Amino acid sequence: MSVRVRFAPSPTGPLHIGGVRTALYNYLFARKMGGKMLLRIEDTDQNRFVPGAEEYILEALNWIGIKIDEGQGVGGPDVPYRQSERKEIYRQYSEQLIQEGKAYYAFDTAEELEEMRKRLEDAKVDNISYNAVTRMQMKNSLTLSKEEVASRIASGEPYVIRLKVPLKEEIRFKDIIREWVVVHSSTIDDKILLKSDGMPTYHLANIVDDHLMGITHVIRGEEWLPSAPLHILLYRAFGWQAPEFAHLPLLLKPEGNGKLSKRDGLLGNFPVFPLQWTDPFSGEVARGFREDGYFPEAMVNFLAFLGWNPGTEQEIFSMDELIESFSLEKIHKAGARFMIDKAKWFNQHYLKEKTEEELVQLIQLPTGASADIAPKLVRLMRDRVIFPQEIVNEVPFIFESPAVYDEDIVKSKWNDDARKAIGIIKEAIQGISDEQFQAQFIHDTIFPALEAAAIKPGKVMQAFRLAITGLGKGPDLMLTLEILGKQEVIARIEKALVTLA
Ligand code: GLU
Repeated sequence: MSVRVRFAPSPTGPLHIGGVRTALYNYLFARKMGGKMLLRIEDTDQNRFVPGAEEYILEALNWIGIKIDEGQGVGGPDVPYRQSERKEIYRQYSEQLIQEGKAYYAFDTAEELEEMRKRLEDAKVDNISYNAVTRMQMKNSLTLSKEEVASRIASGEPYVIRLKVPLKEEIRFKDIIREWVVVHSSTIDDKILLKSDGMPTYHLANIVDDHLMGITHVIRGEEWLPSAPLHILLYRAFGWQAPEFAHLPLLLKPEGNGKLSKRDGLLGNFPVFPLQWTDPFSGEVARGFREDGYFPEAMVNFLAFLGWNPGTEQEIFSMDELIESFSLEKIHKAGARFMIDKAKWFNQHYLKEKTEEELVQLIQLPTGASADIAPKLVRLMRDRVIFPQEIVNEVPFIFESPAVYDEDIVKSKWNDDARKAIGIIKEAIQGISDEQFQAQFIHDTIFPALEAAAIKPGKVMQAFRLAITGLGKGPDLMLTLEILGKQEVIARIEKALVTLA
């Protein structure tokens, strides 16, 4: 049987980076096995629906390079792929369970449910739930006559459909990552399958769709592990073969204690969402990896290693190489600490692999700056940055003459020798034509001029850098001069000689 997996997010806000990892693992597995990757939108909880969230999911998957074979946004044999548009299907399947005696209608009001809870509490019952024991004291199609049930439904009385969870049954299944999971059915209540608004619950819709869409492997976050036994019961109730399950380890805080949260991002100054997101209700903006300058290939590499590794020393993997090496068996049980420095390390690696032209396209110069300097800026900064825009942002002195000069460097380096040397440099530079004003030529002019005056260039270069940039260190000075241009360099020398007199 060919592999079919699905990513089934709920559009309740921006996709968390953990969701992107889930999608990625599904994708890697599907490709590795020559199978198909589906995208299904699980939007049955109308109260939690957030406008724009579905578009965000599609855009995030697209950005990271995950290609959907069937599903929302691309179509396929099981349209529609939005669960809110499949209501009728779920109703039919829940009715089927009723007919087979595996589910029932329940008419209990909120007050009646509350009464039950109180009664059980007073009786000191440990397990307070609507279950095989308590259901027989409630208002449902197991306790009411056929006629009464029919008349209540006909009169439009609200009802839910509940699964008849067996009292004593052992549920065991082997999760590919977690190994054997054993749960007793007495710990599970008679879960609602269809809500009074006619919408299915997550559990029903998820199982029905996984079955109808021929899903062979359910690969999802560990937070869904507690739901898996119920899902197994549902498959049994329908008489369907359950797919294989693989519950992925949690993404942990950088310190390792607890689940990664939005707050960790704020504290550690990193995004936890793939793309920037503006909350449609509050207008609040959350950072995105894309807007922060992370490359999709770096994110793929980083996310792949959050919970998996190939068992070799190799760390740099393209998407194709990941597909080649990936296996569910190599996924770890233990949670994966979210170490942002590793993401930066990958980003720096992939930045180094970009061509000059690519980087030029990725940076934005300040308004007024000439586009001609972009390739030179890239050359100047590419080995010193993690994100493309840092090529511009890390060198404000390129765009503005220094307003202040580093005090420590002034104290330690700005002396009579330095002043004298800078006078010589200025003269040497004045002798260079505009056409020849290039890093190597500037170097070959300045250095001999200094040496001719018996000044060791190494002794005065920092003072010269100070005059030009206001700082004691920075990128290649000769190239910096070339980018600034002859007039600007002379103006800055003159300004420093006056200011630092
Ligand atoms: N809709 C669920 C979610 O938001 C899907 C869980 C699953 O994959 O079964 O994660």
